[in-house]
Amino acid sequence: MAGLSSFIDVAENSHFPIQNLPYGVFSTGNEDPQIGVAIGDKILSLKRLSSFFDGPNLVNNQNVFLEKNLNSFMALGYEAWQEARTTIQNLLRSDNDVLRDNAELRSQAFFSQSDATMHMPVVIGDYTDFYSSIHHATNVGTMFRGRDNALMPNWKHIPVGYHGRASSVVVSGTPIRRPVGQTKPNENAPPVFGPCKLLDFELETAFIVGTGNKLGEPISIKNAHKHIFGMVLMNDWSARDIQKWEYVPLGPFLGKNFGTSISPWVVTMEALAPFAIPNYPKDVEILPYLKHDDNYAFNINLSVAIRDKDMVEPAVVCKSNFKYMYWTMKQQLVHHSISGCNTQTGDLYGSGTISGLEQDSFGSMLELCWKGTRTVDLGNGKSRKFLQDGDNVILSGFCQGENYRVGFGTCEGEVLPAIDASQF
Ligand code: MN
Repeated sequence: MAGLSSFIDVAENSHFPIQNLPYGVFSTGNEDPQIGVAIGDKILSLKRLSSFFDGPNLVNNQNVFLEKNLNSFMALGYEAWQEARTTIQNLLRSDNDVLRDNAELRSQAFFSQSDATMHMPVVIGDYTDFYSSIHHATNVGTMFRGRDNALMPNWKHIPVGYHGRASSVVVSGTPIRRPVGQTKPNENAPPVFGPCKLLDFELETAFIVGTGNKLGEPISIKNAHKHIFGMVLMNDWSARDIQKWEYVPLGPFLGKNFGTSISPWVVTMEALAPFAIPNYPKDVEILPYLKHDDNYAFNINLSVAIRDKDMVEPAVVCKSNFKYMYWTMKQQLVHHSISGCNTQTGDLYGSGTISGLEQDSFGSMLELCWKGTRTVDLGNGKSRKFLQDGDNVILSGFCQGENYRVGFGTCEGEVLPAIDASQF
């Protein structure tokens, strides 16, 4: 796979070589959104090439590539995903002349990413967020309960999570308005109402369910991989002061529901497969329904940078890695459905904040500034404890191969000032 090359030029540090081929939804000019695949700094339109999908799983389903989101394509299932990837990879290979030497077709099928507007790649039915990074859970637990009680007794037995809000998941580039709400800054005084003062990001990835399960029929661990279509970067924006006051006893609510950003390109599990590494070692015996031996952790370099209005270059505040996940995505999905809960095509499953061991690998401002007890340096005399209005938060992620990268691009969002709270 490392030796594959495309007739489209791809820079060595590009996130989108022929080994990747992530799916997205884009538009140019006044045209309707359409499905495409990123290759180098270009997008290959699958709408213009739908007739080339002539294998057994797709020949009678070419219409899925004429749609404005990936849901119908994903719903065709695992074999169809493999077949589509092979077709696209073959069309882009440097030794295949079908598209390479057809100037007219090429002029219709390729678009510049710089000319394109990216849209939500999937229609998300339900969104769930897990809490599966052991260093993040330990950090937050230490801050609020002390080091000895950092992890709750269930944490190493259950992939802990909560049901989030799908309607406010937005694609990278969409600004996020600072929420207003109830907070309780003074322990000994009543709650107050106003703009969130402790606005945070959470460095996460998420996986997208390609095919779900029927109500009452859980997904087994041996079949879980066939349900997971691909991954995106995710920023689970969090209002820490609102969260702190509201979260007992039922968990996050308004502190998380005002916006969640995802990257526009869905990187498939096939593209990530070469970067699978051994799963995080578990020192507690887990129940059989969650057990699997095959590698389903992935070596994905992750980073977060902040750029305010005056900065030319963003300042990197965190470098982490997906390998710090204690639970795998298969375990998360199986646990989610084991009650009989039906999952559906397009569902989004967040990893939870992904923090490493070291201070510069913490995946939220809450941890980086350790609950406000230290500042995070942005260079040129600037620093932060939490996010300010005008801050653009930029998540990035890629796997490093030999002379190529399989990447996600970026997931960005700018913080807008809160509404006038005095109107409410
Ligand atoms: Mn989260």
